[in-house]
Formats: sequence, structure tokens, C-alpha cells
Amino acid sequence: MKNYKIAVLPGDGIGPEVVRQAVKVLDKVAEKYKFSVEYYYADIGGIAIDKTGEPLPKTTLSVCKSSDAVLMGAVGGYKWDNLPGDIRPEAGLLGIRAGLGLFANYRPAVIYKPLRDASPLKDRITENGLDILILRELTGGIYFGDKKRIVTEDGEPAAYDTMIYRKSEVERIARLAFEAARQRNKKVTSVDKAYVLEVSRFWREIVINVSKEYPDVALNHLYVDNAAMQLVIHPEQFDVIVTGNMFGDILSDEASMITGSIGMLPSASLGAESLGLYEPVHGSAPDIAGKDKANPLAVILSAAMMLKYSFKLKEASEAIENAVVKVLEDGLMTGDIATENAVVIGCEQMGDEVVKRL
Ligand code: NAD
Repeated sequence: MKNYKIAVLPGDGIGPEVVRQAVKVLDKVAEKYKFSVEYYYADIGGIAIDKTGEPLPKTTLSVCKSSDAVLMGAVGGYKWDNLPGDIRPEAGLLGIRAGLGLFANYRPAVIYKPLRDASPLKDRITENGLDILILRELTGGIYFGDKKRIVTEDGEPAAYDTMIYRKSEVERIARLAFEAARQRNKKVTSVDKAYVLEVSRFWREIVINVSKEYPDVALNHLYVDNAAMQLVIHPEQFDVIVTGNMFGDILSDEASMITGSIGMLPSASLGAESLGLYEPVHGSAPDIAGKDKANPLAVILSAAMMLKYSFKLKEASEAIENAVVKVLEDGLMTGDIATENAVVIGCEQMGDEVVKRL
């Protein structure tokens, strides 16, 4: 029986309670699909600061590196809000992404039919639900290029940032996009600003070259301004969107908001190896922590992504997604997503209901 080692970093606030539900779901799906999981718990964020003085202790990073995947809750809270930047809980997030060499961020934006009303889009746009995956390059581009404050020749203060992409950086993210599309609807949209930026023309050339290795996947290109518009008028045209760091930052937030609910949004960050970091998009929600009110579906769906992308267990992953949809169709919802006729349940029960439907 195949065994997977999972590093579990519950973190702060609602992190531990939502992660507990995902672990229950993983245990059940492992039993059903005949694989085994071992969990290695470690601290990150505020709880790690309290215990060790650091948001990402070295032991945590080494536990993650010796695992097959990492499942994370959330970090942060009022208690640590006034600490200096480098020892704030959120510094642990940047540290772990860099420490594990994670260069690709996967953000699915899915509108489930029972939650259609939560979307700010009109019914006629979302009537068949929606399922988009945005792949954002995470460790290059303008956020990491040379930047400086300067004084120009005529004495005026100015500043610059540099957008730079290496061929290898574009190739590796493009490959992941085509691989992901192969597991979905076989369509990649590459987003750039090729009529203005040289980096974008370069990006486009490389994506086209990589596409030749994937003749079974369709490729098209959109300028980022047009992509932003298309996401709200014809979102159903998209399967996988791949783009650079800054465009991806903006478009992934736009896409997630068209689904309407932060408690439903999973994410994954992957590198060259299959080791990936899986976490909900939401934060530690200190306002509802410990009250059994948190929606655990974002982290449960993050666990489903782990099965799909790190372990290549597509069937088991889809079983989790289907169980989540069934719970919603049965009208059971946590407070944050509850529609008019829903029965409102707590975090713990939501985990149990997903397990039951597996
Ligand atoms: P947040 O996502 O924690 O909360 C925003 C709002 O959404 C709150 O009203 C919260 O109650 C609600 N919410 C979030 N997740 C929910 C869930 N699963 N179920 C039900 N309701 C949910 O964002 P914030 O309030 O801006 O930040 C709180 C703390 O989290 C801060 O310390 C922030 O730095 C940190 N944070 C961490 C991460 C992360 O760990 N990846 C991400 C964002 C913010």
C-alpha cells in the first residue's frame, strides 16, 4: 500500500479547527482508496513565535522538506500584530514558500451551483457553475527584479522596478499549466501584455514553444486587460489561465471574488518536485476562532488538490470534491455561505458531513 507523509502546520486562529476537519477527510479517503497517510505536525506563525521566537522554526522547514506534501491552516492574530515585520506570523508564509522553492501558485475559482447566489455575477453568467484554475508564477517577474529609488539627471526623485523573466522560469510554469490542463478540460489561456512589454513577447514565444510538447491541449493568448474583462463577462471560456507574478496576483483575486466566498477557496503552491504546499486562501479569522463557526471547506478542498497535484490520485481527489458538492446540495452550510433555506452547521459537523458522503 502506498504511504504518503504529510507535514501538517495548523497555525493560528481558525487554522487548527479547520485543519482537523481536513485530516478526518484525508483519513476517510485514504481508507476508501487504499493508500495510507502519516501526519507530522509542526508549528508556524504566531504559535511558533510563542514557542521559539521565530515564525518559521528550522525544525518546521525540515519536517516539510522530508514530507511528500504540506497541509497548512492559517497564521496571524491580534496578539502578534505589533511585532516587527520579520518576526510577524506572516513572515513564516514567505519563508516557507521560499524555503521549499515553490514557484507556481494554483488558485481554482469554482462556483458551485448551490452557492450561485453568493457570486456577484448575474445568474445568466453563472447558471452552469464555473471552474477555472489560475496558475501564477510566484518567484520571478517584477516583484523580484531590481528596484531602486533614484534621483534623475535633472534632480527629480524617481523610482523603478524591473520586470524580468528567464527562459527556464517561463518554461517550467508553462509546463505545469499544460500538465494541469491535461487533468482538466485541456485548454490553456496564457495572459500577457505582449503589445507593450518585451517581457510579454518573450513569455508568449516560450509558451508557444512549450505547447508543442502538448498537442492534445489547446492554447490561446489574451492581453491582461482583456482577460480582466473576460473573467466577468464570459468566465465559462476559461479552463487553465497561466500568467506572470503581478498579473496573476491581480487576476487570481478577481477570479476568487467572482465565486463570492472566502471560506470556499483552496490553493496550492508547487515547485520542481512533487512536494507542494496546500492551504486555504483565507486568513486566521481571529473574530470567529474557537467558536466552531469556521468553514473548513477551503482547507478540505486544499487537501483534495494535494491528492491531485502532489500524489496524482485524481479519483480520490474528485471524490472529496464531489462529497463537498453533495453536502452543499443537501443544504448544509456554515454561516459564512448559508443561503436562505440552508441548515446552518458548525465547523466540526461540516467535516463529519463530508466524511459521511465519502
Ligand atoms: P481573514 O481571511 O482571516 O478574515 C476575513 C473575514 O473572513 C473575517 O470576517 C473572517 O471571519 C472571515 N473568514 C475567513 N475565513 C473564514 C472561514 N474559513 N469561515 C468563515 N469565515 C471566514 O482575513 P483578515 O481578517 O484580513 O486577517 C486575519 C489574520 O489572518 C491577520 O493576522 C492576517 O495577517 C492573517 N492572514 C493570514 C493568511 C494566511 O495564513 N495565508 C492570509 C490572510 C490573512
